Amino acid sequence: MSAAASARQILTRLHEIMAGRTHAQHKLDRVVETIAESLHSEVCSIYLLREGALELYATQGLNPDAVHMTRMGLSEGLVGAIARNIETLNLAEAKAHPDFLYRPETGEEKFHSFAGVPIVYRERAVGVLCVQHADPRRYEEVEIEALQTTAMVLSELIAHKELVDDVEAIDLGNTNTETEVIEGLILVKGLATGQAVFHQPRIEIDQVVAEDIEAERQRVYRAFDKMREQIDQLGKEPEFGKGGEHVEVLETYKMFAYDEGWSRRINEAIDSGLTAEAAIERVQQRTRMRMREIDDPLLADRMHDLEDLSNRLLRIVSGQLGTAATQGLRRDSILIARNLGPAELLEYDRRRLKGVVLEEGSLTAHVVIVARAMGIPVLGRVTGVLSKVSEGDEVLLDADRGLVTLRPGQALLDAFDARFAKNRERQAAYAELRDVEPFTRDGTRITVMMNAGLRDDMSSLAMTGADGVGLFRTEFQFLVSATLPARDRQMRLYRDVLDAAGDKPVIFRTVDIGGDKAVPYLNSQVAERDENPAMGWRALRLSLEREGLLKAQARALLEAAAGRQLSVMFPMVSEPWEFDAAKQVFEEQLDFLRGRRRLLPEAIEYGCMLEVPALAEVLEQLVPRLSFISVGTNDLTQFLFAADRANPKLAERYDWLSPAILRFLQRVVRGVEGYPVRLGVCGEMGGRRLEALALLGIGYRRLSITPAAVGPIKELVRKVDLDEISQQMTSWLANPPRSLREALKAWADERGIEAD
Ligand code: PEP
Ligand code: MG
Repeated sequence: MSAAASARQILTRLHEIMAGRTHAQHKLDRVVETIAESLHSEVCSIYLLREGALELYATQGLNPDAVHMTRMGLSEGLVGAIARNIETLNLAEAKAHPDFLYRPETGEEKFHSFAGVPIVYRERAVGVLCVQHADPRRYEEVEIEALQTTAMVLSELIAHKELVDDVEAIDLGNTNTETEVIEGLILVKGLATGQAVFHQPRIEIDQVVAEDIEAERQRVYRAFDKMREQIDQLGKEPEFGKGGEHVEVLETYKMFAYDEGWSRRINEAIDSGLTAEAAIERVQQRTRMRMREIDDPLLADRMHDLEDLSNRLLRIVSGQLGTAATQGLRRDSILIARNLGPAELLEYDRRRLKGVVLEEGSLTAHVVIVARAMGIPVLGRVTGVLSKVSEGDEVLLDADRGLVTLRPGQALLDAFDARFAKNRERQAAYAELRDVEPFTRDGTRITVMMNAGLRDDMSSLAMTGADGVGLFRTEFQFLVSATLPARDRQMRLYRDVLDAAGDKPVIFRTVDIGGDKAVPYLNSQVAERDENPAMGWRALRLSLEREGLLKAQARALLEAAAGRQLSVMFPMVSEPWEFDAAKQVFEEQLDFLRGRRRLLPEAIEYGCMLEVPALAEVLEQLVPRLSFISVGTNDLTQFLFAADRANPKLAERYDWLSPAILRFLQRVVRGVEGYPVRLGVCGEMGGRRLEALALLGIGYRRLSITPAAVGPIKELVRKVDLDEISQQMTSWLANPPRSLREALKAWADERGIEAD
């Protein structure tokens, strides 16, 4: 008999048993009886995980008195090993296995052969199904297959409360109440609590046993067609047109989507009596089990792709499409996902989405840039979180310390609440400073602006009372877009931003894409070639060569600012001519609009970022032509220290408060003295209090920082005596103390200036 026929025979009988009107335990007794008979075994037993131990729930062939009496720990016996390792055992001589444990009450001494499979629910073993035989023989492959298929059906029936009375007592995974703390990589700092919500909701399989095999087969065929169509369609999208990583992924997807072996195995599972959904799940489960046995990271990656595709197929066949965003968040939520795209993140309701936990993710991922702008904490590389958390679990996300706590106890919740309360108190104090102008104690007005990149960020301007937008990262619109944003779309965004800013100034930085902020539709071949993307073909370098891109952006900005002030800033200028060339593009577009008698901006000013150390050496050649300079300390420090800003291993290694950086920044201040140019800092450094203190001390009077830092920095400014800190910094930079950070911290503490 084939595997399919053998399983079908059991499933048909199961179907009949389930249709009966007897109570659950009786049904379970009949199930083991049926399986024993079909597999010509003297014994068939079902163990289920209850209160941390595997309890014998039903048996045919062992001593019936042992039912609900025999309980094995997960570290005990063959049954424990099967559940613990989620593996199948097939032994001719059970006693010869090192994990064998003899339980006298079961009366199993007379049986030699043993085969057992885990009963898996949501990737966790919730029980074990096993058969035993008096003769020492290994079970055949078809019998094992039938056993596995049956175990899968059992898991669904159990979860749907159809086979056991006390299903609440069974550890189905979703009843896991243990607190678990997992470490991750800090991607966006912050604290958050909420209930776990899967970005891709789990698919509920309502029916596992097929009523009409042919109909199920047709459903799977149609789903395959649709999935292949989707994959082929993806290949036609412009971003996949050129080489690069995406193409490779797509090729793998295609290979699996058209893989005969995969569809054949699903078909066989349907033959054994499963519905289309259950058959896909069964094959996926089998693949996962195989993967556990093979330790090959390359293959694991591939299997990841197959798993994704399998989920896609399951979604199509079950009609359960859409993400948690489409269904809407009903409460404060922490989003759990393998990975996310920036556009996917933007689909969520910002009021309810409190944090994001990813199995993958990296510092430079677009989604992280967007999350930072949205003020949503993100923890990445949280290994295994998808299988450890259940939908609705309480989650504490501490992305300040790089930890996520699943199902915290009351004590932890209270401690977290205390930290939250402290945060809230602080926020309220900052809010009071909204309309207070930041003057230092000795009466110097410091300009505190904010950084932005999305339309939604503009609401922070009024909320924080910032003096304007010192850096509008126009590339965000490019990053969250699947295709190149057309000029019109760009224009609308810039106009909305200016409208939202009212009288406050906005400095638009032209796109800084390329390198690590790769957009597939523009530079996938480049991303592949650039070995060192931060120092690669990016920002102005790219814009000057792709002149069409810069022209379109210039037109969009000029049109958006018609009748108003326009401030334009160029990123990554390394030599003065690059600034001139970029300005020229704007001036040509201006002439064009003038020729057409269009309404022009009232005034236009140009400035540049100082992120490349080389520019600092020739600053006097460029400064006379600039209205403002903004130091991008994020890039500048990575180039000064030759330390990739995206490499977490180097994140803590170089200090912004090192004499090298501060002396460099001080030289820039001196270099522009006497010129009518506005000098400021717009890197993350300016938003940290100790660093801001040092910047004030070396002569910076303008900061553009992340909105959340505006309140804290205003508060700091009001406590500082500029003369005092300037003298102190001059002395420290002439004779650096062992740790400038510690010295500055002590200095601030002595004066009651809160700074960390
Ligand atoms: C910087 O480099 O400091 C900066 C503000 O630009 P970005 O972070 O966008 O590269
Ligand atoms: Mg930069």
